[in-house]
Amino acid sequence: MIIEELPENAARIVREWRRDGKTICLVPTMGYFHEGHLSLMKHGLQLADKVIVSLFVNPTQFGANEDLSVYPQDLEGDCHKAERTGVDLLFCPAASAVYREKHQTVVSVKDVSNRLCGLNRPGHFDGVATIVTKLFNMFSPEFALFGEKDYQQLVVIKTMVSDLDMPVTVKGVPTIREHDGLAMSSRNSYLDPEERAIAPVLYETLNDIRTSFKTKKTPAAVLPLVEKAKAKITRFTQCSVDYLEVFDERDLSPAEVISENCRAAGAIRINGKVRLIDNLSMK
Ligand code: AMP
Repeated sequence: MIIEELPENAARIVREWRRDGKTICLVPTMGYFHEGHLSLMKHGLQLADKVIVSLFVNPTQFGANEDLSVYPQDLEGDCHKAERTGVDLLFCPAASAVYREKHQTVVSVKDVSNRLCGLNRPGHFDGVATIVTKLFNMFSPEFALFGEKDYQQLVVIKTMVSDLDMPVTVKGVPTIREHDGLAMSSRNSYLDPEERAIAPVLYETLNDIRTSFKTKKTPAAVLPLVEKAKAKITRFTQCSVDYLEVFDERDLSPAEVISENCRAAGAIRINGKVRLIDNLSMK
């Protein structure tokens, strides 16, 4: 596996691969790899001849009071995991090499960025769309993979690619979970044992909504199910709900009645500090 910090060197390596007729898949990440990240890498290896993993804790997608300065890192461990998985290039640039002096361009995908997580994290998806655009321009990949774990991010990127005619195929990869349902996340490392024991409640409530939809003969109204789910979460005094919603998974528009095209998603905070997100398809 090649490990490269400099964008121009990494881009040159990838250009040579392309000249040799190789197809390229990009997997953007912020590192601290778990099985969810490795699943994206494995999918990439099935899709293309060469897999590039970018490892970059992108400052522009963090708000002023968020966890940029404490975001977990383990470059050495990540290198081993990526290499063992079969990744061809790990691109781990410094922030100053990505956002050079006087950087002033922002990519903004309007409507789908301003709901759900966008309400609690203003500017977050502009940061995501901007870094992903830069990575697409550096490497011109045929494929790019994103986890369904961050479902809104996947929709933002797909919308951007369609709106701007970007020549890349974006695919979503299913969420990998712990044995008790908790979606794997680098941020789970912030949880102390008591918080970790509570954390699966988010998945459980999303699953309750899905089960109610699947077992009811008549169309299930969203509101009572969401209220019940919120009550189940806030039973734990440590928990608060940023949002819990059911929406059409194609464009994130709110749903009043659940159908197979819907997804339930939520963001909760435990003890005010650890923010967890998750979502579940109603299919
Ligand atoms: P991150 O490093 O958290 O920015 O995640 C990098 C990529 O991995 C994103 O496309 C995420 O959606 C995806 N990802 C994160 N957690 C999971 C998971 N539990 N299962 C599948 N994909 C995931």
